[in-house]
Amino acid sequence: MRYLSTRGDAARPRFCDILLEGLAPDGGLYLPETYPQIDDTTLARWRDLSYAELAFEILSLYIDDIPTADLRGIVDRTYTAEVFGTPEITPLKKLDDGLYLQALSNGPTLAFKDMAMQLLGNLFEYELARRGRQLNILGATSGDTGSAAEYAMRGKRGITVFMLSPHGRMSPFQQAQMFSLQDTNIHNIAVEGVFDDCQDIVKAVSADLEFKRRWQIGTVNSINWARLLAQVVYYFAGYFQATASNAERVSFAVPSGNFGNVCAGHVARMMGLPIARLVVATNENDVLDEFFRTGAYRVRGSEQTHETSSPSMDISKASNFERFVFDLLGRDAQRTRALFGESVAREGGFALTGEDRDRIAGFGFVSGRSTHADRVATIRATFESSGVVVDPHTADGLKVAALLRRPEPMIVLETALPAKFAATIVEALGREPDRPVALVGIEQVPKRFKVMPVSADAVKDYIAHNAGQ
Ligand SMILES: *Cc1c(COP(=O)(O)O)cnc(C)c1O
Repeated sequence: MRYLSTRGDAARPRFCDILLEGLAPDGGLYLPETYPQIDDTTLARWRDLSYAELAFEILSLYIDDIPTADLRGIVDRTYTAEVFGTPEITPLKKLDDGLYLQALSNGPTLAFKDMAMQLLGNLFEYELARRGRQLNILGATSGDTGSAAEYAMRGKRGITVFMLSPHGRMSPFQQAQMFSLQDTNIHNIAVEGVFDDCQDIVKAVSADLEFKRRWQIGTVNSINWARLLAQVVYYFAGYFQATASNAERVSFAVPSGNFGNVCAGHVARMMGLPIARLVVATNENDVLDEFFRTGAYRVRGSEQTHETSSPSMDISKASNFERFVFDLLGRDAQRTRALFGESVAREGGFALTGEDRDRIAGFGFVSGRSTHADRVATIRATFESSGVVVDPHTADGLKVAALLRRPEPMIVLETALPAKFAATIVEALGREPDRPVALVGIEQVPKRFKVMPVSADAVKDYIAHNAGQ
């Protein structure tokens, strides 16, 4: 399988060439040249596979530059009951007739980002060893992504992580989760500023190409193709659990921010998985809902980006969205470049009209938005009707799923456990959420982190003294 850029770059790299990269050289995102098509016989055969076997089958359609036995080993090490809590890895829970929750949040950091990041850790370690290389991962986080990256990369040979977070601004639970890691290859840097300051430092360090090359700096952001590919697997796993035969169709409702999760659903559907609709659920940061309702994509400024009680969906633009628009436009790279490289950069967005807009429905996408009041009401109603406590992000998904349900089964993706977002659970239910046993008392574990001023030079200096090489 070869990969192309949504903006038309002439190179056609293979999987391992893009594994350690972010954007394509022309600023586009990588996608496979074609989506492998899954016929009925194959789908029937996959129905009985374990999660790891299914992941191997799907990944091997997209990865032809890792020997089969090695890829199988990587996948088997990643998707285990020890790491993800159950043998099903992403078990389905029935809430009501035809309404299911698919648990993607039983990994080490209790959020769905573990599903992809755990695989990425093992793929990185493998590929770096093969190339005799080191990688120093530099990132900024306000919560979920940073901890998922650290738990995936801890103790991995050839990898050192430098994770910037705003000092004193994460929840005590999130701080404890990240700062309690004692692994010597994990460096938590608490910046005396806000999240935007952390991101600016990452940008400034990455823009120093000489420094970046010298210290082999890389990232693990949500546009990485391997992360998206890992997420395709659980759409198949969810489908098989909700249906008895391949004649049935299901819909998925996906709490969305950067459009990574639901874009994996789009890829699964393009491969032929019988998905009726992909329901994009946003919170008050509704840039995606606006697009799917009107065809207009309008990036928000930071003053128009709301801080909500489903914080992992608080985005101003959706970094994976370009992938879908490329497919929507019949894979026209020139038009995709005009929209994202020019209109978004110059005017902050674009509006699709006529035939372009009419094509959206053919890809199965519909959308809706939810508010803080909706989340609280949904958490309460779900608990009262089924005894299940859901987190605020999953509540956004449930709320929008309820608005848009049709006869076919609906699977709502559970993207985090309620234990991570205690304040909203207390508001909705008047009590603290349960915590997985392993995390009881985590706030008391000694913390390892370094406080630093808002200074790219200070961070560079720290990296130069602590980098793996
Ligand atoms: C990251 C995240 C999301 C949003 O997923 P995208 O892939 O960015 O659309 C939703 N819920 C939780 C809990 C997350 O951590």
